[in-house]
Amino acid sequence: LKYKGFALIVGVTGIVGNSLAEILPLHDTPGGPWKVYGVARRPRPPWNADYPMEYIQCDIRDEEQTLTQLSNLQDLTHVFYVTWANCSNEQHNCEINGQMFKNVLNAVIPNCPNLQHICLQTGRNHYIGPFDDWGTLNGVQDAPFCEDLPRIENPNFYYTLEDILFKEVTKKEGLTWSVHRPGVIFGFSPCSMMNIVGSLCVYAAICRHEGEPLRFPGTRQAWESYHSASDADLIAEHHIWAAVDEYAKNEVFNISNGDVFKWKHFWKVLAEQFGVENGGLQEEGERRSLSDMMKDKGAVWDAIVTEKELLPTKLEEVGGWWFVDVVLGNEGMLDLMNKSKEHGFLGFRNSKSSFVSWIDKIKCSKIVPI
Ligand code: NAD
Repeated sequence: LKYKGFALIVGVTGIVGNSLAEILPLHDTPGGPWKVYGVARRPRPPWNADYPMEYIQCDIRDEEQTLTQLSNLQDLTHVFYVTWANCSNEQHNCEINGQMFKNVLNAVIPNCPNLQHICLQTGRNHYIGPFDDWGTLNGVQDAPFCEDLPRIENPNFYYTLEDILFKEVTKKEGLTWSVHRPGVIFGFSPCSMMNIVGSLCVYAAICRHEGEPLRFPGTRQAWESYHSASDADLIAEHHIWAAVDEYAKNEVFNISNGDVFKWKHFWKVLAEQFGVENGGLQEEGERRSLSDMMKDKGAVWDAIVTEKELLPTKLEEVGGWWFVDVVLGNEGMLDLMNKSKEHGFLGFRNSKSSFVSWIDKIKCSKIVPI
């Protein structure tokens, strides 16, 4: 097979990394046939093992290790950067995430003569600040967000990553870039730090096991407002589009499904998928965070895993409660897809079908019971 593209996916076991690993090797993927290299920190998990790619276990926080492991991939033409580290505060996030990205770029830019394009994934917090600051920042943009809004003043590791990208690409003539800003991602990955669908499936499975109704752990604002999501396969298609299409070079793009939904409607869908009673929104004053509700459920999860013969996981790996609490604790905030469309990307997803199909995939992969 004669390859046309040589891709490095940094964060290949993550929620978008996994979709890229599935889509890039397909025979009809634009820019292909692709040879794929994928980097992640831990050993290759079984659910990732079937993708035709070269798996590289490497901790990109470590400069030496990154240089040793990645500088010999001299055929690379494209880098898809879909990873991050979650630190205790935003200043620390800027330092660590900046260092990780630099380590990768320093290993590949000087050593890959055919390198053409770097896709960087950030997110909608570009417009509203880091999670810890939600609701408290001044100058936060008014939704719906479009790409050319000015940055807000507070530190944000997405700005650090962009600035590194803009600087580093100048070191190689003709090297182009794109930045992709998804909202909450619907996708598959049992080792993602933020996987709303996966975490909700685990919560629903625990409710069913305990004979409890599925209570909405969020606020009325979140229950009743419009939200939009970003399907992981759609984001992967968006990355690949930007990697190969002339009109997408050196641009920043939002990426979301193109429709809206309300959690009060999707909650019913989730309850049906797991055959549990829909407990709905709790009255004011009764709200308990999911982190609090789930804090003693480790042993319950272990019992479900054993009884249903699931892939072995620990509750803290598959239940990202803090993230669910943030998403379901706040009013939805919408972005605009006009810029992508104007540049020629017409992809979209039906968010309800996306929600249900990722639930199916999470069940079929034996991460949660059917
Ligand atoms: P993720 O948490 O799903 O996956 C991270 C991947 O990177 C995994 O493969 C992990 O093994 C790997 N990784 C982590 N640390 C590493 C290290 N030190 N060395 C090597 N590999 C390492 O990632 P994601 O959610 O796709 O995040 C990518 C970007 O998307 C982040 O900036 C994130 O904030 C943003 N984003 C995510 C969401 C979401 O819902 N998940 C929504 C909007 C924006």
